[in-house]
Amino acid sequence: MLALGWGIVAVRYPQLKAEADRFEIMSRSKPVGPKDYAQAPQSMQLLNLAILLGMITLYTFAPMFFGLWALVPMVCYTEMHLGLDVLFSNAMAVNSYVLGKNGYPFWGMTFLIRLNIYVVVTIPTCILMTYLGSGTLVNGSEAAPRLDGLVLASAASSFVVVEILFTIGHWALHHLPSMAHLHKMHHCVRFVNAHAFGTFNMIDLMIEFGPAIVGMVMWNAVVIQDPWCVLLNYWWATCWGASDHDPWMNSAHAKHHLYTTNRYHIFLTSKGAFGLPNEPEKELIRKTIKF
Ligand SMILES: [Zn+2]
Ligand SMILES: [Zn+2]
Repeated sequence: MLALGWGIVAVRYPQLKAEADRFEIMSRSKPVGPKDYAQAPQSMQLLNLAILLGMITLYTFAPMFFGLWALVPMVCYTEMHLGLDVLFSNAMAVNSYVLGKNGYPFWGMTFLIRLNIYVVVTIPTCILMTYLGSGTLVNGSEAAPRLDGLVLASAASSFVVVEILFTIGHWALHHLPSMAHLHKMHHCVRFVNAHAFGTFNMIDLMIEFGPAIVGMVMWNAVVIQDPWCVLLNYWWATCWGASDHDPWMNSAHAKHHLYTTNRYHIFLTSKGAFGLPNEPEKELIRKTIKF
């Protein structure tokens, strides 16, 4: 399946390169926008969104049943999601033009995107969920599916934990000189697509999602002390967070990419970050990227 994913990129490469060149010429005379490149048809976008949600469902629940063997379908689903993204849309071409202009070459990025997804997301998730599924992490108890007051309370509190930790990290990546250079690569993605979730400096990826996901898991495992709450909250929070980069969803985060707007939240759509300084002249990412 890995070979199929890379094969699709290799077959599509000449067309993507031609599209990136056309985009470069066009951008010399006018600012280019989402209408200026071939997006995937709506039906294909919806299919890939369904695959994304299925993929996260698999990430969350398959290790409970298959342990580390769940990595096999997890990788297959991920490659299918990335492959369809390249097959039907030219978003990767236009993003790779900006990435190239900023010193990040196409094939290096194709490799890094997968490395990020597998090393930072897929494998740790599989290990974590294998432990949770066997109840090892929480009191040795089973993760029994149910819906009650504790599950609802844990969902509401998890929303707050993820939102606060993600937003503070994301704001810092835009405003602190010591951190902004890490976030530059991710913002070379002007047009969100399946590849955007892996288009990260690896440290940036860990800063943005690490505290939010680890904090939320620990909140449910240590304070709430319920393995089912960990699984359920991981599932919906990751579905929601990942679909922020989905083209069909066209989320506030998609606009954050397109215009580098000052929307730093993951779930909320409002501007700003809980009252943290938010003046456009103090934002560093827009100043450092060559578009
Ligand atoms: Zn950002
Ligand atoms: Zn993003």
